[in-house]
Amino acid sequence: MRLFVAILLSQEMTDALCQTMQTLRQHTVAGRFSRRENLHLTLAFIGETNRVAQAKQALSSVQADPFSMQLDGVGRFRRDSGDIVWAGLRKNKSLEQLAQQVQQQLRQAGFVLQDRSFAAHLTLGREVVLEDGFDLRSFGKTVPAVSMQVNRISLMKSERIQGKLTYTEIGFVGLNNDTDRKS
Ligand code: ATP
Ligand code: MG
Repeated sequence: MRLFVAILLSQEMTDALCQTMQTLRQHTVAGRFSRRENLHLTLAFIGETNRVAQAKQALSSVQADPFSMQLDGVGRFRRDSGDIVWAGLRKNKSLEQLAQQVQQQLRQAGFVLQDRSFAAHLTLGREVVLEDGFDLRSFGKTVPAVSMQVNRISLMKSERIQGKLTYTEIGFVGLNNDTDRKS
């Protein structure tokens, strides 16, 4: 199956992202926007594997305290077939360290991950062609700077069910829920 590790988003943050997508859609010539239930932040992409127990085991070794993260504007990755449009997050050491740790634990467990640096983004749309002259940067400033607490990381399964891209949480690890952790 196809696996990835993600942070699932609060209702409040999801609401803000849905609002953002709704407005963006009105300024879009083409594109596929994410379904509400699919919004997430990817920490690591594992890809096709049947080593589910090993992935869970690797994640259970992650040691981090809960932290908060905050929305910050929108941006795009340019592609020939249309852009990936995303919502950004305010620069966040805890988040970067968490992603690094997750990737390191997975690599130690023998998973082969892409060797590119982590750039936190929340994908809103794919193959997006924006209206001519639409100022994405200025629009981004209108997105509310919603914060949320991150308390867990989730192991996600990605599949197509009746043609619909569907993500399912198949495991999770709470952050700093290890009661006998020495401080
Ligand atoms: P689709 O590929 O059907 O357009 P998707 O990209 O959302 O949909 P997956 O490819 O299963 O679905 O990816 C799951 C998550 O992992 C998404 O957040 C995606 O952006 C991320 N992801 C996918 N491939 C990679 C990759 N090679 N490197 C890093 N992250 C990836
Ligand atoms: Mg993909």
